[in-house]
Amino acid sequence: MTSLPPYWVDPLKDQFLVTIADSRPTEEHFEITIVEDVVKAAGGGQAGDRGILGINQEEIVVRDTIQRDGIAVMLTEKGLTKGVKSTLVIDMDWRRSIMRNHTAEHLFAAALKERYPFLKPGAMWIDGNHGTVEMVGGKVGVQELFSAEKSVQNAIHRDITVSTETVNASELDKSIRARESVEAKHEMVRIVRIGDSDAAACSGTHVLRTGDIGVFKIIDYKIEEESVHVEFVTGNRAVIILYDLFNAALERRRSHPFELKQLGAVLDRGKHVSSEFAKVLEKMEHLLDRGPTIEDIDGISFRHEFLPGFEVSNLKRILKNITLDGPSAILYFTPGEKCNLVFWTNDLPHEANIYISDVVTKLGGRGGGSEQVYTGGFSDVDSPERIYDDLVEQVRALLLRR
Ligand SMILES: [Zn+2]
Repeated sequence: MTSLPPYWVDPLKDQFLVTIADSRPTEEHFEITIVEDVVKAAGGGQAGDRGILGINQEEIVVRDTIQRDGIAVMLTEKGLTKGVKSTLVIDMDWRRSIMRNHTAEHLFAAALKERYPFLKPGAMWIDGNHGTVEMVGGKVGVQELFSAEKSVQNAIHRDITVSTETVNASELDKSIRARESVEAKHEMVRIVRIGDSDAAACSGTHVLRTGDIGVFKIIDYKIEEESVHVEFVTGNRAVIILYDLFNAALERRRSHPFELKQLGAVLDRGKHVSSEFAKVLEKMEHLLDRGPTIEDIDGISFRHEFLPGFEVSNLKRILKNITLDGPSAILYFTPGEKCNLVFWTNDLPHEANIYISDVVTKLGGRGGGSEQVYTGGFSDVDSPERIYDDLVEQVRALLLRR
């Protein structure tokens, strides 16, 4: 068997003496190939190596390495003469990040598959900045996603040895995670093992111990009926993101006291307030434009308003300040998941509840009152607007009948 390339057996080896096999210009850069198999090209969802080619004090930046017809092609800023010797120094910050992200991807895919055995690998991209991974074949719960994230962090903490071996494709069995196409495409397959936790067919570069990953953090996700798509970072990049986020919350805790564990509820409340505020503005515009809604129902003045953002206590305070003169009725309604209403009458032939009590009950609410005032409410309301419209219409009809 031919010997394996250094990026597989010794991914931390970063300096090589290489011979330029070919060098040609393209529109954006130069394309250089070398005789030795020492630079890792993009492939299998993993980005290619970066580095520096050195010759006679000159340094030529290798921006990326791609694969063409099975040959690694370095994309460089300058060309070199065919046949010359050069030193190649691999950009180890970039490669180490890729190694961390790739091994983390294996741990995460394994953790998800443990929770959802039906999941299959979808699209994937790993580079030195971040990783994105997609699993397809069913719906994943968000709590399970976060629990898989935690189990990756636990595996990092356990500092498990990562080992590789090359086996005959026919030896692959169910215990090894592999894309269905692997067996058909390759005769020999490289297996990456993370202790007893995971074994997967993979041609990528990996850390030697899971502890090298440091920290694993999901930074975005999208759950769909048949797939889940996750973006993550590792190492110091993950730590910095966690610092920034935590401190942003910590800083606001000074001006808006809240428990950090309640951050989710605080954000929910914020969203609720802003949507309520939009409704209040709309209502204000309406009131400024057309004034209060007052109808004349055959000699009875009927005033009614839909009042988002208000509480029952607000309504009662407003009503206290209104002086009713002659036959009249006021219906004020506060919408929400719980809706409340106050119905106040003056100089009508019947008590207030005669005009509204049955209507409220029929619409699924409850209430009660004294001679002139009826208060009521509805819980678990989906569409407050519809309840309000129905209320107004039916109370109007009853007022008309006296
Ligand atoms: Zn892999």
